[in-house]
Amino acid sequence: MIEAKWKNTKTLSICSLPVSLVREDPGEWVDNGMGRSLLKDGKILVNSSMPDDTQLWTIVHESLHHIDDMNGLDLSEQVISTMATGVFDFIKQNPEIIKGIIDL
Ligand SMILES: [Zn+2]
Repeated sequence: MIEAKWKNTKTLSICSLPVSLVREDPGEWVDNGMGRSLLKDGKILVNSSMPDDTQLWTIVHESLHHIDDMNGLDLSEQVISTMATGVFDFIKQNPEIIKGIIDL
């Protein structure tokens, strides 16, 4: 089986800054958690033991935390989770729009 390309992604660009994406089995950094956004370390951690769609949603969720923290928005966990679900669904349901943006 060929591994999905996204699983090889090591760096994200968030607000034009590089952010390391680390997918790993939960260790010390997580207690029943899905991921972490570590602004000072420039890093996003994702629990790689979760199903693929949950990992991808978590990448969106933690990226929104990163944007929140970078800009001092102080958004609630509920707002972040709601926005993550909305953005994830928008990306998934509108591939032509996403491709149009990528191809600009
Ligand atoms: Zn969160």
